[in-house]
Amino acid sequence: MQPTAAAADLATLGGQTMGTTWSVRLLAHARDDLHAIHAGIQAQLDRVVAQMSTWEAHSDISRYRDAAAGSWIALPPEFATVLDCALEVAAASDGAFDPTLGPLVDLWGFGSAGTPRRVPAEAGIAQARECCGWQRLQRRANGRELLQPGGLRLDLSAIAKGYGADLVAAHLRAGGIGAALVEVGGEIHAFGRKPDGTPWRVLVESAADEQADLEAMPPRVLQLEDAAVATSGDRWHRFEQDGRRYAHTIDPRTGIPVADAAVAVTVVATDAMHADAWATALTVMGAQAGLEFARNHDLAARFVIREAGRLREAMTDAFAARLVQA
Ligand code: AMP
Ligand code: MG
Repeated sequence: MQPTAAAADLATLGGQTMGTTWSVRLLAHARDDLHAIHAGIQAQLDRVVAQMSTWEAHSDISRYRDAAAGSWIALPPEFATVLDCALEVAAASDGAFDPTLGPLVDLWGFGSAGTPRRVPAEAGIAQARECCGWQRLQRRANGRELLQPGGLRLDLSAIAKGYGADLVAAHLRAGGIGAALVEVGGEIHAFGRKPDGTPWRVLVESAADEQADLEAMPPRVLQLEDAAVATSGDRWHRFEQDGRRYAHTIDPRTGIPVADAAVAVTVVATDAMHADAWATALTVMGAQAGLEFARNHDLAARFVIREAGRLREAMTDAFAARLVQA
């Protein structure tokens, strides 16, 4: 018997990438080859890793790091797209987001260099800061070639997972999939609707490991209609020293991890690449300045912050408008 065209069901696929996991829920028909779809998704994500992972010795980003001073490095189109967005957000956030923080990320032990996670010497911070600065990036050939002036190291970890989700979503759409919820390391891109015709819904990340005050922190559910969401948080990548908590988001103005970083900053946007970059940028700005910035720039954002040992949330109206009312 031939399956009917309307017999669409939800299929769930998953795998590993970028040091984390990916998962995709998609509207599949009986005729769809899920093994081929899985392989196609993994290939998209492998492409991002081969270009933008500092953990891969031969990736394009590592080649750029190792290139001789004065050389121009050709960038593949995906890399150029991500760098475009990174520089757009760097400029718009007045440098709160900076894709050139590689030396500082390594120095604090959050990078691929294998440096231990501890507070480095001040002289080391000053030295690493001299090797950073998005304004030093020079491009030519329509952004497809990047100059290595000597000592610059890119870090696209704050944006690549979101881009990966976008790339997978575009790949699935191009392959004729009508709807999917794509998640890469917590960053999400949704398109189409569920088989029952309702929009995709996702639970917003808060702070599961904290003594969450449930009354103050009700679960928040977002409705996503051709939209993306990304969250930056200090839950996984952090260390404590001398009673202080150091999270992996670095303030480019000081070279030091953001003090009292928000527990979680979530941004909804039309693509996950922008949502991811902005979630990081707003984390650097902090709740007060970040929320004000988000309101003035039409960003849908939510902060979860720690205040006197308790968690508190604050969000823009644009974010609240996307929540499913309890
Ligand atoms: P995310 O989880 O998306 O906020 O990304 C955090 C990662 O981005 C860190 O582990 C660093 O590799 C990198 N990073 C840290 N600080 C910044 C910053 N101010 N701008 C851009 N990338 C950053
Ligand atoms: Mg990010």
